[in-house]
Amino acid sequence: MENEKLRCCVCNNSLGGYHTTVAEYKIYKCARCGLESTFPVPSSDELKAFYTGYSDFRADLKVTERNAALHIEILKKYGLNRKTRTLDYGAGTGGFVKAFEGICVGYDPFAKKKKNLFNSIEDLPFQLFDTVTCWSVLDNQRDPSSTIKECSNLLKNGGLFAFSVVSTETEIPFRYKPPEHLTYWTKESIRLLLKALHFELLFLEQDTMWQRSNVYIDLICSRIPDTYHKAFKHAKLELPEYVQIPTNELFCVSRKL
Ligand SMILES: [Zn+2]
Repeated sequence: MENEKLRCCVCNNSLGGYHTTVAEYKIYKCARCGLESTFPVPSSDELKAFYTGYSDFRADLKVTERNAALHIEILKKYGLNRKTRTLDYGAGTGGFVKAFEGICVGYDPFAKKKKNLFNSIEDLPFQLFDTVTCWSVLDNQRDPSSTIKECSNLLKNGGLFAFSVVSTETEIPFRYKPPEHLTYWTKESIRLLLKALHFELLFLEQDTMWQRSNVYIDLICSRIPDTYHKAFKHAKLELPEYVQIPTNELFCVSRKL
């Protein structure tokens, strides 16, 4: 049986026969921790091809910088300050690095190289960091445990590890998007994985973000007839340029033990 080989990458539970099919992928839900996983897992080369030159509506630099500021405010409650050495793992275009007013560098194997943004771990200016952040990255990985272990190796004992992942438990609808998202998370799956990898959970809540109001209205209207969509487009004029909205992601802060 093909399914007997499929296991949850968080709790190692074998994945049952029920699945959702999206294009050529099947998405299985773990009966134990609730994590949903995409099979077949794309190869590293397929993912590299997908992410080279990748961008999405959230990659708008101003939006990314505003959202970085939102996350930084929460991280300050747990000890982040201008002097803490911070690494943004999977930094993309570097919005978080730019918004961070302090010591912060980014690592991203697919990003264009620029100031404070590195394509390889070996090139990073420090071997250990006080904080590692990982925004919307773990759910894109072939093996999220290995990615967290790599982040942990770059983190001092007692250092902060903060991340966001797409969730199946928020009230905001999500779409299955393989091969962009390979896993879809529950609070329980995050608790189990962090415990197994020796992190103390400090904060785990639904994330919020700033978005341009016209982009938000387009998203809300994407499933309604065009006629009504146009009416909403006029209504957007009543909104400020940016709105703070709930997302379908979980935001987690943890501490390396
Ligand atoms: Zn599981």
